Amino acid sequence: MQSIPLPTIANSLIDSFQRTHRSLRISVTDRCNIRCQYCMPAGLVQFLPRNQLLTYEQIEMLVRALVPVGITRLRLTGGEPLVRAKLDTLVKLLASVPGIESIALTTNAMLLAEQIDALIEAGLRNINISLDTLRESVFKELSRRDGLEKVLTGIDAAVKRGLKPKLNAVLLRDINLEDATELVEFALERELTVRFIEYMPLDADGSWDGTQMISGDELRVLLKKRFGPMELLDRDDPARPSTNYGFQNRTGTVGFIDSVSKPFCGACDRLRITAEGLMRNCLFGKEEWDLRPYLQGEYNPEQLVERVRECVASKFAAHGIGTPEFVSPERTMHRIGG
Ligand code: SAM
Ligand code: SF4
Repeated sequence: MQSIPLPTIANSLIDSFQRTHRSLRISVTDRCNIRCQYCMPAGLVQFLPRNQLLTYEQIEMLVRALVPVGITRLRLTGGEPLVRAKLDTLVKLLASVPGIESIALTTNAMLLAEQIDALIEAGLRNINISLDTLRESVFKELSRRDGLEKVLTGIDAAVKRGLKPKLNAVLLRDINLEDATELVEFALERELTVRFIEYMPLDADGSWDGTQMISGDELRVLLKKRFGPMELLDRDDPARPSTNYGFQNRTGTVGFIDSVSKPFCGACDRLRITAEGLMRNCLFGKEEWDLRPYLQGEYNPEQLVERVRECVASKFAAHGIGTPEFVSPERTMHRIGG
């Protein structure tokens, strides 16, 4: 096996709040086959021209440069990552990088059934699937497109191959709050975990004002009424964003990603690279560090890592939602990579 320099405390990506960065979220595209209203604008969306996306080889070069400074966990996201052609070839390239401990995918699953075999063959084991409702009419209202059947087929395909996808749901008060209990039922019946993500101010139309968001506290009260007492489970990994609960009367767990009401910024270990090659240190950050010059022409991993260090060093302590100074980033979720 190829030997790589091991990360040491001295060369790890540690920010000024002593957070060590181990995870990289890689957006492979800003395109999507649906238009979730909490993520994308209603009107015409200007996508990046395809020739401006980082190539799979450039993404691999970036990852190879970052492993020696401690990046070991990767998540492929977007936009919808499965609309990018031959995503399995990227998975394969990344799986071959020594030092990478996990490669995960976040997807809406509409194209998963047709790609699952190739993805597993390439080395993918860890999938998060977004599922906000089990009602087609609500799916259409929320995502402005048809497609729930395809999502459910995608989930089935993953389960049939022996994977245990985590289901992610965003609830909007006036649209799909009443789907919450059915989503938990759906997950428990399949021995899966559903995690509820609080609606964050990353929507395209700037309509977030907190009133549509369902906080984890509110949701836990609601779920206890239906499922009985829930017990807080130990957090196996402090950087994991979800707080998980078990049920006293049912087998299985439910997760809550209370990113707005109970921020977990103190344990954040994540960096993000946009589809065109701009590094971000926070979902809500305003600044971006352009890594393209180091991935085009002559490859210079040392300079690239120095630029990434500048990005890490500039990271704020917390996202600041709810403070008077907070302003939503101009980039909406599909252009950042959730
Ligand atoms: N298209 C893929 C999907 O939907 O799973 C991957 C990209 S999507 C941006 C990643 C995750 O971000 C999804 O689980 C989605 O529900 C979540 N998301 C998007 N906009 C959000 C928002 N404003 N607040 C909270 N979560 C959001
Ligand atoms: Fe597409 Fe995912 Fe955004 Fe929905 S949340 S519009 S599926 S990128």
